[in-house]
Order: sequence, then C-alpha cells, then structure tokens
Amino acid sequence: MFDVIVIGGGVVGGLVMREATKYQLKVCLLEKEGDVCMGASKANSGIVHAGYDAKPNTLKAKFNVLGNKMMGELCRELGVKYVNNGSLVIAFDEEEKRTLSALKERGQVNGVEGLEIIDKERLHGLEGNLSPDAIAALYAPTAGTVCPYGLTIAAIGNAMDNGGTLYTDYEVVAIKKDTDGYCVQAKDGRETKAKVVVNCAGYHGGKIARMIGDDYPISGRKGEYILVDRACSGYLSHTVFCTPTEKGKGILVTRTVDGNIMFGPTAEEVDEMDASTSVDGLAFVQDRAKRICKNPPLRHAITSFAGVRAYASTRDFIVKESDASQGFFHCIGIESPGLTAAPALAQYVVEKLISRRLPLKKRKDFDGRRAPDYFFKDLSREEQNALIKKDAAYGRVVCRCEGITEGEIIRAIRENPPAKDIDGVKRRTRTGMGRCQGGFCQPVVAQLIAKERGVPIEEVTKKGKGSYLLTGVTK
Ligand SMILES: Cc1cc2nc3c(=O)[nH]c(=O)nc-3n(C[C@H](O)[C@H](O)[C@H](O)COP(=O)(O)OP(=O)(O)OC[C@H]3O[C@@H](n4cnc5c(N)ncnc54)[C@H](O)[C@@H]3O)c2cc1C
Repeated sequence: MFDVIVIGGGVVGGLVMREATKYQLKVCLLEKEGDVCMGASKANSGIVHAGYDAKPNTLKAKFNVLGNKMMGELCRELGVKYVNNGSLVIAFDEEEKRTLSALKERGQVNGVEGLEIIDKERLHGLEGNLSPDAIAALYAPTAGTVCPYGLTIAAIGNAMDNGGTLYTDYEVVAIKKDTDGYCVQAKDGRETKAKVVVNCAGYHGGKIARMIGDDYPISGRKGEYILVDRACSGYLSHTVFCTPTEKGKGILVTRTVDGNIMFGPTAEEVDEMDASTSVDGLAFVQDRAKRICKNPPLRHAITSFAGVRAYASTRDFIVKESDASQGFFHCIGIESPGLTAAPALAQYVVEKLISRRLPLKKRKDFDGRRAPDYFFKDLSREEQNALIKKDAAYGRVVCRCEGITEGEIIRAIRENPPAKDIDGVKRRTRTGMGRCQGGFCQPVVAQLIAKERGVPIEEVTKKGKGSYLLTGVTK
C-alpha cells in the first residue's frame, strides 16, 4: 500500500512524484508507456515563459510566473540544461506595437519583472537575423529555455533515487475507491493501492477523471516543428515570438539548450494523440519562418516532429481535489505554459492538496541533487583523461555528431529511470540527435542495450512495444 499514486510520467507527474518524496510518504508513479516522458513533455518548444501571455488571475498566470522563478535553481539541482536567454515578441506595424503595450501591462499585473518595449534599433542590435520589417519588441529578460525531456527524466530519476517507485507499461483502465483509499487497475490486470491519487495523465487526464465520476473534457491541439542542425546555433540567441493577433499566435523561433534552432509550432485541433507531421504543417512553418527571419537556415533542417497540447474546456489548468471523491486530485488540462509552471504546480499539489488528506513530515535524508546525463564533451581534457583512466568506456565515442561516449550510454541504461530502447537512450544522452539522426550510432546503441539488459539484439526496440529494429539473422 502506497501513500501516493501519481498517474502519468510527464513533467507534471514527474515533479509531483519528486516533490512528494521530500516527505515521509511511500510514492509510486504509474506510466502507460514503456518509458517516462512520452506525452506532451517530450515534444514542445522548451521555453520557460516569462508570464505575460496568460490572463491575469488564472491558474496559468499564477503558476507560470512562480514556475519561471523556480526553474533555474531546480535545473541546477537536477543537472538539467537551462539557459536564461530572454524572449522578444516582435511587432511589424503600429497596431501590433499597441498589442505589445497591452502584453507588457498584463505581464506586470501577473508579476513579471523587467519587461520593456524596445525600439527597432535595439531589437536589431540584439538579433541581427530578424526581418528588417520588425519595428519594435517586448523584451522579457526572465524568459529562458530548458530541456523538457531532460527535466522530466531527471525529476523521476531523482524521486526513484530517493525511494519512489515507478511502474511502466502500466495503463490505468479502472479505479476503485475502498475504505483505505484507492485501488488503481492496469490493462494487464495489475493492481496498485494508495491512500491518495494524483491524476497527471495529460491528454488522457479527462479519461482518468471519468473513472472516478468527474467530468473534465480535454481536447488536443497539435504543434509541428522544424529543427535545424547545431552548426547554425549562432543564428539567434533569444526566443522570438510573433505578436498574437485575432488569427492566432503565429510561430516562434528559438535556440534550444543544445544549440539547435527550432521553428514552430503549428496549432491544429486533433481528435487523438496524433503526433505525426504533415506536408502542409511543415510548409506553413517554413512560410512563417521566412516572414520573421532573414534567410532562415531551413536547408540545414535535420528533423521535424510534433507534440499534442492537452486543452481543458475551461481554458485554464485544472488543479483541484475531485468533486466526486475525497483524496483524488487532478492536475490536468496543463497546456502551455505547463512546462514552465510544472515546478510550482508540483509544489502546490503536494503542499496544498495532498496535505489536506495526509500529514506531511519532511524527510531529513532527501537528496535533491543529480548528476547530468551527458557531460563528457563539456569536461576539460584533463578531466576527460582522468575519467577514461577510471572507465575505458568513456574513451569510445559512439555518437560522432554529438560526441557521446559509450560510458554515458551505459550509464543511461543502468540509472533511474533506465533507458530500455533506442529513443530512451536518445532522450537521456542525445545519441542520434545530430546531423545523421542515428544513421551511424544506432546499431552500436542497440548492441549496448542488448548486452546491458541481457536480451538478444532482435528484442531491442526503437520506441517501446513492437517497434523492432531487426527480425533475425540473414542466412
Ligand atoms: C506543441 C507544444 C508546445 C509547447 N511549448 C511549451 C513551451 O514552450 N513552454 C511551456 O511551458 N509549455 C509548453 N507546452 C506545454 C507543455 O509541454 C505541457 O504543459 C506539459 O508537457 C504537460 O505535461 P503533463 O505531465 O501534464 O503531460 P504529458 O507530458 O502528456 O504526460 C502525461 C503522461 O500520462 C501518461 N498517461 C496517459 N494516460 C495514462 C493512463 N491511462 N495510465 C497511465 N499513464 C497514462 C502519458 O503516457 C504521459 O506520459 C507545449 C506543449 C506542446 C504540445
């Protein structure tokens, strides 16, 4: 019997799990996929929003601003990449300039510090590759970028290092309430019990809510992206947004924490968790990129991808105890800026919601620190040599594009939460995220997974159940 079950291993569930392990509680996270971070937290813009976008007095506004303030310190503790690069909302005409002033005022009401409207000269001094037609911008110095999957994996890994339990391939299909708490049933028949449950199931959060009699419709909106090679990292440093208009927010351009330039996302209503890209979607992104930037480096694109935002019909985050069932909590409808808000949401869920039903006593032995997942190429020559002397696996580079060693890959397969497939290793170490997109390193990674897990190489998958790479040996 656990004290707390968290359903959903995205950034929100992962940080709720970690926050709960700071207390004398037995905590368990249930994830339907074979690995954590397989939903919206895997595929998004990775922006730590400043907080001028959300309407004042909404949960989105409150948790955005709080989460933004917490992100830097949290990432330092967890060894996750975070850059405080600042953001710019650019205007192309006088009407858009007036919208910038309204955004600035809204941001000030929300508690965002340092917002400034800057003129054309200063704007183009900050970013030399923007369209010459941009005439002003709202500058937000507190905005940043973070590695979203790095943060999610590190949060869950750190919670496990502190005694938390993770069950993967655990698709919750039914929830029963009894006198002691809840019995949460999986599709394969497994049952897990706890005194309280937190629903962090993202796009499927509405489905989980219905299992205990609550009705919170959640719908999906897909966003498609184009990602450019790190060789173009000098193209831009701030995150650049278009001024929102009645027609929508337009696309953004940003530099990820690893130095890739990224254009997107689109916004298309979808009826299912469909994360495929489309010719039309990517053509739209290219067209808009050319309007915002001078010569966008689109011919250096190395991949495209899509993510699905989970929208609540209320258009705000749903963070509350169930109306139908005491001790059951929802943290759902967490659309953008949910990545930014996640640290603050997690703290609120534990300190203000779970505390209503369970006594919270801080643990003295909680250790919130975690070493970074990939690091070798950032070490000095002396440090690299010393590490290779200790473990020769750090002397063998597997991913040449990203400079990732065998030592880092083996660590990702062994540590919490363990990487079990090719994409799991990729999210933890960046192996296969470079220009060749895994063309050269994938076979070696497959061999390492097979060896470390003690399984035949034919059983190694790309991304979970059924995605086999090999069918057998040719005769
Ligand atoms: C295109 C796009 C761009 C975005 N850009 C930004 C941005 O720049 N900045 C920002 O702050 N936010 C951004 N967001 C929002 C942010 O990504 C989300 O708010 C955040 O990732 C939501 O996290 P989550 O944990 O609630 O959901 P998810 O990451 O979707 O996690 C939910 C988890 O629950 C699991 N699950 C579902 N059903 C079950 C079940 N029955 N049993 C067990 N497990 C289950 C899923 O497999 C999944 O792992 C963006 C989102 C998208 C899609």
